[in-house]
Amino acid sequence: MEFCPDCKSIMVPSEGVLVCRRCGKKVEMKKSDIIVSKTEQRERTMTVIEDSEAAGLPTTKYKCPECGNDTAYWWLRQLRSADESEVRFFRCTKCNFTWREYD
Ligand SMILES: [Zn+2]
Ligand SMILES: [Zn+2]
Repeated sequence: MEFCPDCKSIMVPSEGVLVCRRCGKKVEMKKSDIIVSKTEQRERTMTVIEDSEAAGLPTTKYKCPECGNDTAYWWLRQLRSADESEVRFFRCTKCNFTWREYD
Protein backbone atom coordinates (compact mmCIF):
# COMPACT_ATOMS: atom_id res chain seq x y z
CA MET A 1 0.00 0.00 0.00
CA GLU A 2 1.35 3.41 -0.97
CA PHE A 3 0.44 6.69 0.60
CA CYS A 4 0.45 10.16 -0.91
CA PRO A 5 3.56 12.14 0.08
CA ASP A 6 1.43 15.30 0.24
CA CYS A 7 -1.78 14.40 2.01
CA LYS A 8 -1.14 10.81 3.22
CA SER A 9 -4.20 9.43 1.45
CA ILE A 10 -4.16 5.97 -0.16
CA MET A 11 -2.77 5.97 -3.68
CA VAL A 12 -4.23 3.72 -6.36
CA PRO A 13 -2.36 2.37 -9.42
CA SER A 14 -3.49 3.76 -12.76
CA GLU A 15 -1.76 3.42 -16.14
CA GLY A 16 1.67 2.78 -14.68
CA VAL A 17 1.56 5.48 -12.03
CA LEU A 18 0.09 5.81 -8.58
CA VAL A 19 -2.62 8.40 -8.22
CA CYS A 20 -3.74 9.96 -4.95
CA ARG A 21 -7.46 9.54 -4.50
CA ARG A 22 -7.77 12.76 -2.56
CA CYS A 23 -5.50 15.35 -4.18
CA GLY A 24 -4.75 13.68 -7.52
CA LYS A 25 -0.99 13.70 -7.09
CA LYS A 26 0.79 11.22 -9.35
CA VAL A 27 3.98 9.36 -8.51
CA GLU A 28 5.87 6.75 -10.50
CA MET A 29 5.29 3.19 -9.46
CA LYS A 30 8.10 1.28 -7.90
CA LYS A 31 9.24 -1.70 -9.98
CA SER A 32 7.90 -4.18 -7.44
CA ASP A 33 4.41 -2.69 -7.65
CA ILE A 34 4.34 -3.05 -11.41
CA ILE A 35 5.35 -6.70 -11.23
CA VAL A 36 2.65 -7.42 -8.68
CA SER A 37 -0.08 -5.84 -10.76
CA LYS A 38 1.00 -7.77 -13.85
CA THR A 39 0.77 -11.05 -11.96
CA GLU A 40 -2.69 -10.13 -10.75
CA GLN A 41 -3.80 -9.38 -14.29
CA ARG A 42 -2.63 -12.76 -15.47
CA GLU A 43 -4.48 -14.52 -12.68
CA ARG A 44 -7.59 -12.61 -13.55
CA THR A 45 -7.40 -13.49 -17.24
CA MET A 46 -7.18 -17.15 -16.40
CA THR A 47 -10.37 -17.10 -14.40
CA VAL A 48 -12.33 -15.18 -17.02
CA ILE A 49 -14.60 -17.30 -19.13
CA GLU A 50 -17.24 -16.28 -21.61
CA ASP A 51 -20.88 -16.50 -20.60
CA SER A 52 -21.56 -18.88 -23.48
CA GLU A 53 -18.79 -21.08 -22.15
CA ALA A 54 -20.24 -20.98 -18.65
CA ALA A 55 -23.63 -22.11 -19.92
CA GLY A 56 -22.19 -25.52 -20.77
CA LEU A 57 -20.42 -25.98 -17.46
CA PRO A 58 -21.57 -28.35 -14.76
CA THR A 59 -22.91 -26.83 -11.58
CA THR A 60 -22.36 -27.90 -8.02
CA LYS A 61 -23.63 -27.03 -4.58
CA TYR A 62 -21.04 -24.57 -3.38
CA LYS A 63 -21.62 -21.43 -1.40
CA CYS A 64 -20.65 -18.20 -3.13
CA PRO A 65 -18.37 -16.19 -0.82
CA GLU A 66 -19.72 -13.02 -2.37
CA CYS A 67 -23.52 -13.25 -2.29
CA GLY A 68 -24.25 -16.49 -0.41
CA ASN A 69 -25.91 -18.18 -3.39
CA ASP A 70 -25.47 -21.97 -3.08
CA THR A 71 -24.97 -23.01 -6.71
CA ALA A 72 -21.82 -22.48 -8.74
CA TYR A 73 -20.44 -23.53 -12.11
CA TRP A 74 -17.11 -25.27 -11.83
CA TRP A 75 -14.25 -26.22 -14.12
CA LEU A 76 -10.67 -27.37 -13.91
CA ARG A 77 -7.71 -25.45 -15.12
CA GLN A 78 -4.03 -26.15 -14.90
CA LEU A 79 -1.91 -23.31 -13.64
CA ARG A 80 1.55 -22.37 -14.83
CA SER A 81 3.80 -25.43 -14.99
CA ALA A 82 2.78 -29.01 -15.63
CA ASP A 83 3.95 -30.17 -12.21
CA GLU A 84 1.26 -28.19 -10.50
CA SER A 85 -1.99 -29.98 -9.99
CA GLU A 86 -5.19 -28.78 -11.60
CA VAL A 87 -7.13 -26.15 -9.75
CA ARG A 88 -10.87 -26.11 -9.47
CA PHE A 89 -12.54 -22.83 -10.31
CA PHE A 90 -16.05 -21.84 -9.35
CA ARG A 91 -18.36 -19.22 -10.72
CA CYS A 92 -21.50 -18.19 -8.91
CA THR A 93 -24.61 -18.76 -11.05
CA LYS A 94 -26.21 -15.67 -9.56
CA CYS A 95 -23.62 -12.88 -9.34
CA ASN A 96 -20.90 -14.34 -11.63
CA PHE A 97 -18.29 -13.99 -8.92
CA THR A 98 -15.40 -16.30 -9.81
CA TRP A 99 -13.02 -17.89 -7.35
CA ARG A 100 -10.65 -20.81 -7.12
CA GLU A 101 -10.57 -23.62 -4.64
CA TYR A 102 -7.61 -23.66 -2.33
CA ASP A 103 -6.56 -26.89 -0.77
ZN1 LIG B 1 -2.63 13.44 -1.96
ZN1 LIG C 1 -22.67 -14.97 -5.88
